[in-house]
Amino acid sequence: LNRGITMSVACDWLITDIRIASLTDNGAPYGQILDGVIAIRGDALLYVGEAAGAPIFAARQVLNGGQRWATPGLVDCHTHLIFGGNRAAEFEQRLQGIDYQQIARQGGGINSTVNATRAASETELLSSAMARAQRLLAEGVTTFEVKSGYGLDVANEVKMLRVGEQLAHQLPATVCRTFLGAHALPAEFKDSADAYIDHVCAEMIPLIAEQGLATAVDVFCESIGFTPAQCERVFVQAKAHGLAIKAHVEQLSDLKGAVLAAKYGALSVDHLEYLAPEDVPVLKEHGAIAVILPAAYYFLHETCKPPIDALRAQGVKMAVATDLNPGTAPMASILLAMNQACVLFGLTPEESLRGATHHGALALGLKKKGVLAAGMDADLLLWDVSHPAELAYAINFHQPRYIWQAGIQRLASGAIIEPAALSQKESV
Ligand SMILES: [Zn+2]
Repeated sequence: LNRGITMSVACDWLITDIRIASLTDNGAPYGQILDGVIAIRGDALLYVGEAAGAPIFAARQVLNGGQRWATPGLVDCHTHLIFGGNRAAEFEQRLQGIDYQQIARQGGGINSTVNATRAASETELLSSAMARAQRLLAEGVTTFEVKSGYGLDVANEVKMLRVGEQLAHQLPATVCRTFLGAHALPAEFKDSADAYIDHVCAEMIPLIAEQGLATAVDVFCESIGFTPAQCERVFVQAKAHGLAIKAHVEQLSDLKGAVLAAKYGALSVDHLEYLAPEDVPVLKEHGAIAVILPAAYYFLHETCKPPIDALRAQGVKMAVATDLNPGTAPMASILLAMNQACVLFGLTPEESLRGATHHGALALGLKKKGVLAAGMDADLLLWDVSHPAELAYAINFHQPRYIWQAGIQRLASGAIIEPAALSQKESV
């Protein structure tokens, strides 16, 4: 026991004999550290580095990682996982040849989910959202975002955000909540989109800010959503209430929404299939994260791809997320989103892992997550892989062997492992 002349450093967890994909910019691929040690104290990383030269730790619990790879906990920075009903019937329609815009104009699409979400109680919404979130947690997601946007009136938008608050309380995960009132035009405001935007700006945003129900505001800037001018009014009001900005832009057409959102200081601009390469420097200039959502592209059988080469060449940080939603991305798998980002859009496995960790965290404004380094949050995973590229490469092969969220070890199910029970088990 590390007694003697050398002072030992107290920590809660010491994880030895691991390879670390730190995703820091240490010059090595994946920020790798091949003979690594991680020490956790409380909810933060105390030490991440080579075993050689590490301090001597006095740890409450020690785990020999058996040469497994450590990565940061996964971050799914764009989901709509709170919703009522599902859209399997619409899926069937689309396969009979009706396109998404046409379905939306016929009152299907988002509005059918709005009706089901309004009809559901808070308890029902929480129960179905919890089940979807648990699929993400089982894959090693330690932080995810949820958006409102299927309520589209004060009571139902608030109901959705309260469900998000409950997810944050009940799950061992960091849950960021985004207000997406400007998602679709509700039936009550048919043909008066400006009046609905007035309502979003005058009634919803002040209330949501005052009650602390969301930290960001999002919009759907699209021909079937809202015009850039309408989105701009939402951005102005969000900023006035101290809320961050995110935006669904250039998914189905190029309305220059990404440039607009970036100029308003958006944390992220999301989708970007129709982003013009010449607009990419504006994203770089304003530091907006480009969130790539390949599942919607896949599901809609889209053919126009986001300008990945231009984003990469300009050094715009790219995040990868599921977009989990009932209409265009019924997919509760961040690892599959990483695979799709590689296969469909040509991201490298390293870019996709950074996209689902560090850059996903930045897209949520979280600066202490997504990288394994001293002082960062202790959200980390140990994987039974021989190289981190395997995470994006293989479909439905992998689940983390060990998970810590905020320094607490949990099972893939989300169940917390009590330290006492653990040491008892080890002593048997
Ligand atoms: Zn979305």
